[in-house]
Amino acid sequence: MSETSPQRIIPLLDQRPGVLSVPLSAMANAGLLSANGLLTDTRGRQLQDLRISVTDRCNFRCSYCMPKDVFTKDYPYLPHNSLLSFEEITRLARQFVAHGVQKIRLTGGEPLLRKNVEILVEQLATLRTPQGNALDLTLTTNGALLARKAAALKDAGLNRLTVSLDGLDDDVFRAMNNVDFPVREVLDGIEAAHKVGLGPIKVNMVVKRGTNDSQILPMARHFKGSGIVLRFIEYMDVGATNGWRMNDVLPSAELVSLLQQELPLVALEPAQVGETAQRWGYADANGLHDKAAGEIGVISSVTQAFCSDCNRARLSTEGQLYLCLFASQGYNLRELVRAAHTDAELAAAIAHIWSGRTDRYSELRGSEEAAPQGDGRRRVEMSYIGG
Ligand code: SAM
Ligand code: SF4
Ligand code: SF4
Repeated sequence: MSETSPQRIIPLLDQRPGVLSVPLSAMANAGLLSANGLLTDTRGRQLQDLRISVTDRCNFRCSYCMPKDVFTKDYPYLPHNSLLSFEEITRLARQFVAHGVQKIRLTGGEPLLRKNVEILVEQLATLRTPQGNALDLTLTTNGALLARKAAALKDAGLNRLTVSLDGLDDDVFRAMNNVDFPVREVLDGIEAAHKVGLGPIKVNMVVKRGTNDSQILPMARHFKGSGIVLRFIEYMDVGATNGWRMNDVLPSAELVSLLQQELPLVALEPAQVGETAQRWGYADANGLHDKAAGEIGVISSVTQAFCSDCNRARLSTEGQLYLCLFASQGYNLRELVRAAHTDAELAAAIAHIWSGRTDRYSELRGSEEAAPQGDGRRRVEMSYIGG
């Protein structure tokens, strides 16, 4: 297996991205921009999905996310007092839900490393949409601590789960996580989650050409018919440290053709608007979807932009709001939460920020407009903002 990254950048300084203060005029708009469950941006995209990063730390060092030579023990991880508390996260989340967010995903870094994360799940599970519905509350994890945490997460009210797994072969998997973590323990975690009824479970596999593409077919064979939806993700140019090159991307179209040679597939309709994955069902002998065999998804973030439907906001561990995975600046909501503003003012600030949103990086990728603007600006790291 080869791991070449000739353009690797080794940062010497704190590389976290810039932060914008929310203008006071946003507060004054409290009456005008009150939450009514329908908030759209400049391109008519409705705010529906909130991803919350609960830690910027991780016990893995996947080369596409937290390369080991950059994320050393001396890396400037966030100090504890800059993290949002569970109460602060829940209070902010409540304003997002009032504006139309129906789905919340906890992520990181590795979210199961955040102490007592199940208490946060319990608090978020009490939130209700303006229509009185419970949220779709989920979490993305590398699975290393899942066997230990699954029951507590289920009891706390987590609805479902996504586990990242980049291969079944133990040597390939240990090389991908780069901390020599055995694949068996992640599979045990998935099994434990399944046993406690924490489903539906999805498995995400980032595919890096020449590194773990040998695992595409074994992963598909393993999860076919298991009730678990396997999703293949194109390796993205997120952040500034992973040495991304287009040559390392295996386009989803190529991946689907590869699968089709052994496992015939039929295209399925999207389950909902803004869905990131294109769905493919396993075909039966008549070329129809065999529901018992299940389905896979492909997330073509690089080769097929889906910005036109992007309804996701991201809240970093320290309370900065990002409007795009590829943003270089966030909006400082922690400052507002800690400055004794009312809930109506927080809601107005969120409305002000989202209604001015123009982001569509994947549509612009490679163009001048897509480059981070201004002196020293860098794109935010995936481990800081969450996937
Ligand atoms: N640590 C958890 C995990 O790995 O599931 C949650 C955080 S991780 C940043 C969230 C997701 O982002 C994972 O599924 C991971 O594979 C994906 N990811 C990270 N870096 C990526 C990249 N450069 N391209 C595509 N996906 C990436
Ligand atoms: Fe950690 Fe997840 Fe990033 Fe891998 S992808 S380094 S598990 S945060
Ligand atoms: Fe959404 Fe930004 Fe990704 Fe486009 S590039 S889909 S706007 S996160």
